[in-house]
Amino acid sequence: MKRKVLLIYTGGTIGMEKDYETGSLRAFDFGNIFEKMPEMKLMECEVFVHPFAKPLDSSDMGPDEWRIIANYIFDNYEKYDGFLILHGTDTMSYTASALSFMLKGLTKPVILTGSQLPIGDLRTDAKENLLTSLYYASLYEQNEAVIQEVAIYFEYKLLRGNRTLKYSAEYFDAYTSPNYPILGQSGVHLKIERENLFRSDERIEFHVDEHISEDVLFWRIFPGMKLNHFKEIPKMKVLILQVFGSGTIFSSEKTLETLQQIRNNGTEIVVVSQCISGGISFGKYENSNIFAKIGAISGKDMTAESAITKSMHLIDNPNYKGSFADNFSRNICGEISD
Ligand code: ASP
Repeated sequence: MKRKVLLIYTGGTIGMEKDYETGSLRAFDFGNIFEKMPEMKLMECEVFVHPFAKPLDSSDMGPDEWRIIANYIFDNYEKYDGFLILHGTDTMSYTASALSFMLKGLTKPVILTGSQLPIGDLRTDAKENLLTSLYYASLYEQNEAVIQEVAIYFEYKLLRGNRTLKYSAEYFDAYTSPNYPILGQSGVHLKIERENLFRSDERIEFHVDEHISEDVLFWRIFPGMKLNHFKEIPKMKVLILQVFGSGTIFSSEKTLETLQQIRNNGTEIVVVSQCISGGISFGKYENSNIFAKIGAISGKDMTAESAITKSMHLIDNPNYKGSFADNFSRNICGEISD
């Protein structure tokens, strides 16, 4: 039986072609993808294409588009065996992280991919990314999907979406997942690392929780930063502080006073690290004691992208019982280590 994959094209470099006369890039009509890539017809799966009416640069993707994608997957969940989202690379990790929190009880693959060079470029990385993503999106064994989570496939690696970040604007190998091992790898053989795959609680039936709040702010500290600027920050529900190393910040009284004041205003403070690998460990240095004092929440080894979208999803979400801190600290879909 041929598996059916729904390909949702949202925009980004992957959907562009080079006009070799003028040298400029232009969006190409994705409805014609089978003409551009006849190889797709040779795949063992059947591909159905749903392009966004207006392809977007991924810097224009946000909560509205995440909801549109999540609900489109929900509406088509029974008809297809897997879902492939073609997306600009700049914010793909945010979309993958957000979708991982919004798609509850997922039992089918949702793979995101894109490319660094347009599909119409002679040296493009788009074709391999697209063909192998289709393979992973249609991979079933004994009538069960092998991948049952939101993943990014890029340059020979299949990665858990909410563990990724884009770390290169130059190389084809643009994504990394520094705190979680790969889910699969494409070489002569297409491999799956089964022990790394996520499985939802099977009592949860597939549904979408589209709650996303925009009342979240992200702040990266730096040596010499004037903390009194914090006082000018408008009231917000969650402040994500990106601090040094394993969780340190300036030790002055002023720091404590300012952060305490933000907390007294009812703002939750989540702490993540500026290092891309490793994470926060409160109490390791004196300069992290302040976070325990003000009741800040450790983002542990989460990526900034994941901490931001998890905060957006959890804050004021009526579908979660208990405190924001307890829910944030809990592993929801493989985004944080225990
Ligand atoms: N600016 C593009 C985007 O993110 C970059 C890309 O697709 O690689 O939409």
